[in-house]
Parts: sequence; structure tokens; C-alpha cells
Amino acid sequence: MAPDKQDLGARAKATLDFTNDYDDFAAPWFTLPQGSMPPEMAYQIVHDEAMLDGNARLNLATFVGTWMDEQANRLYTETFDKNMIDKDEYPKTAEIETRCWRILADLWHAPDPAQAIGTSTIGSSEAAMLAGLAMMRRWRAGRRAVGLPTDRPNLVMSAAVQVCWEKFCNYWDVEPRLVPVSEEHPALDGDGLERYVDDRTIGVVAIMGVTYTGVYEPVARISAALDRIQAASGLNVPIHVDGASGAMVAPFVQPELTWDFTLERVVSINTSGHKYGLVYPGLGWVVWRSAEHLPEDMIFRVSYLGGDMPTLALNFSRPGAQVLLQYYLFLRLGFDGYREVHSHTREVALYVSGEIARMGPFELVSDGSDIPVLAWRLTEDPDRHWNLHHLSDRLRGRGWQVPAYPLPEGLAHITVQRIVLRRGRRSLARNFLEDLRACVDYLDGLDGPIPVEREGSAFHH
Ligand SMILES: *Cc1c(COP(=O)(O)O)cnc(C)c1O
Repeated sequence: MAPDKQDLGARAKATLDFTNDYDDFAAPWFTLPQGSMPPEMAYQIVHDEAMLDGNARLNLATFVGTWMDEQANRLYTETFDKNMIDKDEYPKTAEIETRCWRILADLWHAPDPAQAIGTSTIGSSEAAMLAGLAMMRRWRAGRRAVGLPTDRPNLVMSAAVQVCWEKFCNYWDVEPRLVPVSEEHPALDGDGLERYVDDRTIGVVAIMGVTYTGVYEPVARISAALDRIQAASGLNVPIHVDGASGAMVAPFVQPELTWDFTLERVVSINTSGHKYGLVYPGLGWVVWRSAEHLPEDMIFRVSYLGGDMPTLALNFSRPGAQVLLQYYLFLRLGFDGYREVHSHTREVALYVSGEIARMGPFELVSDGSDIPVLAWRLTEDPDRHWNLHHLSDRLRGRGWQVPAYPLPEGLAHITVQRIVLRRGRRSLARNFLEDLRACVDYLDGLDGPIPVEREGSAFHH
């Protein structure tokens, strides 16, 4: 029975000092409450429920930004009402969005950044949909022009791709051609690519920062393999670089690496502004090396800015504040600042991986030298009574969220644990290592197997 408003008001006062039986009438979780309640009460309830989530800073599973400075927080509060799609009402935000992707086009060495084209998105997943669609449309147009069939397109990528590429293939009826990983080829490296690529291949996805391990796929080698395929068969297959993490790390930390638009075959690159772009969740970017790689029919033009504003996106309304936060960081940090922040994070990652390697039971799968993400597996030990899932559970008891999960097809017999280092302090990393040691000691101290196996509840992203 729904209590009337007066009743709610009276109880609200008591609720604020946590002394009443509010839960009794809040019980219907899945229907709209009949009456309204004072804002303090609603706030307290939502606040308390959100408190039961994990602590975002202790979430070592996520790649996504969990901290911004005070000025960014102020800017966010001032701009959370801006809708990115309202380019006529918020022309400055729209202009700043353009500045941001032009900055990225330049950072990624587009041959002529003024000829590049790009957009912000809600994340790398939306960016991947747009980049994948552009490759598919380009392939179709090319086939149609010479009277060849345009059905059954395929996309070639590693079995270690992030789920967004499987979604792209599923949603748009593209055949995913997944190249399995192996001990010898732990990432897509161009080896044997000719067995996967054919005249229906719309493109190859190369990942800068594989989700499972954080390692870079060698884009230049993949590109060289496609050059050889082109020389042998005439097929000209483009590359899209999924730089969700790495496209905002490599330019600063590994400037000597060739992976971006310097390779002519790379037609588009995406990144997540909310990963190593260091913005809060809700921001991705995609840039095409030049406008010709983005078919005109995907672009909608709005003229109300007095000029000609091309727009493309899957969503209509979405927050504009994150775009302003990205621009804030571009100004605040500059190239040197991003280099400093990410170099420091990488140093901490190398320190942590070094300590983990020394602990005994672990063998590193990656050490955090590409993107600051590291993964390890257990060494063989018949006397050990625990596995990495048990260790994840123990760590969770201390607040740390560290996923354990099997590697993709080809190496699925190997379970790894992974941590993603983000902007933060070495002291926090030391605390993590202390807790990791304590959890390992506890598990090592057990004199029998843990009774119930809990497998497969992975929470990597
Ligand atoms: C995180 C990630 C994505 C998805 O990015 P979102 O911004 O979360 O949508 C895609 N690819 C890779 C390699 C990733 O790490």
C-alpha cells in the first residue's frame, strides 16, 4: 500500500538519521512509487545504493577514466546540460568538437589534417560501428562500379578483438573472420593473413592495445602483409586501427612506433576519449585519413551554423560536456603533459609487473610496456590448491577488482588475470601489491582444495 505524501514527509525526517523503517514502503523496486518524496530522501536512497557499488579507483578491471581534477569537475558541472546534437544552439561546443578531432588527425599524422574528417562518439564502440560501415560502403561502391556482387562482405581481425567488432559484424551482417591467437602468434601480426583475406574483405582491424593483454598489434607488419597480398592478387584491403587505448598512449610514449596514418593503408582510427584520453565515461573519437574514405551518403549536413556542418553518428542526443572536458585536457596537459602522465603510469605498470613476476606463482603474459596494462598466468604447480578465480575473490574482499578470464580462441586453455593502470600514484600500487601478497599467502596456506570452484565469472571489459 502506498503511503500518502504527508506520511512520506514525516518519515523522511526520520530517514535522514537512518532510524525509521523506510525500506518497508520503498519495497516496490520495479514499479513507480505512487507518491512523491522529499528530494533529501530520494537523494539519500540513491546515494546509499550507489555506495554499494565497487570503489571506482580500486577497479583495476576498467580502462575508463575514474578521476579528473577539480577544474574539470567544475567544468563538467557547468556544462552537463549541453546536448552534443544541438549544434545550432551550442555552436561553440560543436566547433570545439571539430578542433578536438582535427587535433587527433594531426597527432595521428593524417597526411593533410585539413582534409581529414572525424567526429566524437559516445565511445569506441560507436566509433567502430561508423568506421566499419564506412569500410563496408566503400567496398560496396567499388564492387558496384565494376559490376561485381556486393553481398557477403567480411571483416578480418584477431580472435582477441573487443566485443564491439563482433557486434558490428552481427548488427550489419558482415562475416567476422577471426584469426586465432597462438603461443607463437599471440596477436594479429600478418602471418598467414592471405588465408583470411579475399575479394569480399572490407578491411582488416588492427588493435593498438589488445583488451586481453594490453599488447600492440604490429600495424606496420600487418600493412606489409597486405602489401604482399595486393602485389600477388591485386586486392587493396584497407586497415582500421582500433586504438581505443593505444591511440592516446603511443603518440606520447612510443613516438618511434609506426602504426598511424603514416601507413597509407590505415584509413581510419578510433580511440576512447574516456580511456587514456583521461575524460570521464561517455566519449570516443573516430578520424578518417581524408574525406574520401568516409562515403558521402553517411554524412548528414546541417546548414544552420552559417556554414556547412557535416554530422554523422548513430545517436542523436548525447552529452556534450565530455567533448569540452577533452578540450580542457588538451589545453591543460598539452603534448608534454600527456607524455608525462602516461610515462609515469607506464613506469608504475613496469614496477608492478616486475614485483608480480618476482612473487613466485606468476608468469607474466604482458608487462605493461605497450599500454600500461599487464596480465599474468599461474605457473604449473601440482601442489597448488587455488586458481586465479580464487585469487580474484580474495582481492575483491579487500576492495580490489581484478578480473580473471580465459584468453581468446587458440589460447583459451590459459587463464590470466589482468590489471589496467590508470593515472594514479605509486603508493596505491604498493598497497595493491601488499594486498596481493597477503591474498597469495592466505591461499598458499590452505591445506586442501577450495571446496567450490567458481569459474568463468569474468568481468574484463
Ligand atoms: C574498450 C575498447 C573498446 C570499446 O570501447 P568503448 O569506449 O568502451 O566503447 C573497443 N576496442 C578496444 C581495443 C577496447 O579496449
